[in-house]
Amino acid sequence: MTVPSRPSIWDGGGFATRAIHVGQEPDAGTGAVAVPVYQTSTFAQSGVGVHRGWEYARSGNPTRDALQAALASLEGATYGFAFASGLAACDAVLRCLRPGDHVLVANDVYGGTYRQFARVHGAWGLDFDAVDLSDRAAVDAAWRPSTRLLWVETPTNPLLNIVDIETLAGYAHDRGGVVVVDNTFATPYLQQPLALGADVVVHSTTKYLGGHSDVVGGAVLTSDERLADDIGFLQNAVGAVPGPWDTFLVLRGIKTLALRMQAHCENARAVVEALCSHPAVTLVRYPGLAGHPGHDVAARQMRDFGGMVSFHLADGPSALAACARFRVFTLAESLGGVESLVEHPGRMTHLSVAGSPLQIPDTLIRLSVGIEDAEDLLDDVRQALGHEPGQALGHEPGPALG
Ligand code: PLP
Repeated sequence: MTVPSRPSIWDGGGFATRAIHVGQEPDAGTGAVAVPVYQTSTFAQSGVGVHRGWEYARSGNPTRDALQAALASLEGATYGFAFASGLAACDAVLRCLRPGDHVLVANDVYGGTYRQFARVHGAWGLDFDAVDLSDRAAVDAAWRPSTRLLWVETPTNPLLNIVDIETLAGYAHDRGGVVVVDNTFATPYLQQPLALGADVVVHSTTKYLGGHSDVVGGAVLTSDERLADDIGFLQNAVGAVPGPWDTFLVLRGIKTLALRMQAHCENARAVVEALCSHPAVTLVRYPGLAGHPGHDVAARQMRDFGGMVSFHLADGPSALAACARFRVFTLAESLGGVESLVEHPGRMTHLSVAGSPLQIPDTLIRLSVGIEDAEDLLDDVRQALGHEPGQALGHEPGPALG
């Protein structure tokens, strides 16, 4: 039986207050204000089976409990589970299904998620179809009597497409399905899928929740008791749990999540403006742009539009060359840290989906806009793109969206 997060005196508080306090009361034994790193594999028992709530650190650890309680509060969930990585969190959710069950997965999910569907769970008998979840006719056509679960990312990685969570949750529930939302890109500060009707939220805490590019982790949040029982069982039985230092780092990261997300969004807006008026850029993908096909849905279900920006140059070689010219933006995989990153999804994060139905154009560049001074980021974007042919030829700026 999975234990719900304990009620906290901070439960009624605002987002930033809960991020700092839920699960993080001063240590009862010492008064330590920061949750201690309980670096121990086991816990003394005063008699056989008599303990203070913790027996063995795979099953439970006080530092991990604090993180789970805080994340559950931020997502409005009753139950929280921390994992060793985002993909370990995805794996735990998919292991709740049975061979022969069918899943509809967004056709532009993160490449590693797709690879897990295709080469791990698919190989053990899970059926799935990758479809455009914003296209009702496509979802209708792909839905089967055996469909149990819809796997949503919004905004998607790396194309920044938007899915209407509330509409999809209503659709799935009418047919007895469960909706899982990977909320890594938006974070609970910008979007709360459970309040919109989703059943489960997963995170790569490696990204904005950790926020400092110094830890790998994942989480599953839900208020569904039956699913929580299954996931709690799998967390212990499979054992893909994060260590206490890693949970401490994510816990420290989320204390500043609200402030960081505001800064990420503000800087992303400035970068998008610069890209939209740059002659070498053929297309900018950002849900905050009025021309983005998902703009209205994003404006309804998100507090702001996030720190991720994708854009296209005229051809693949130009995109690869431009990626290598950034100086303030570091050329690296991952996202969501305080420092800005640039990457070429086709050759880097999404290489694992090459040859799959997920087509990532080689003209695409993805930016994770950090919280440095905006002017430094804009100077870097201009110098990195300044050599592109469109600039030299004075082409008209590309359309602000697609
Ligand atoms: N979900 C999304 C949207 C991601 O971007 C990633 C990683 O980039 C993952 C899941 C997997 O997370 P991790 O790398 O922590 O396993």
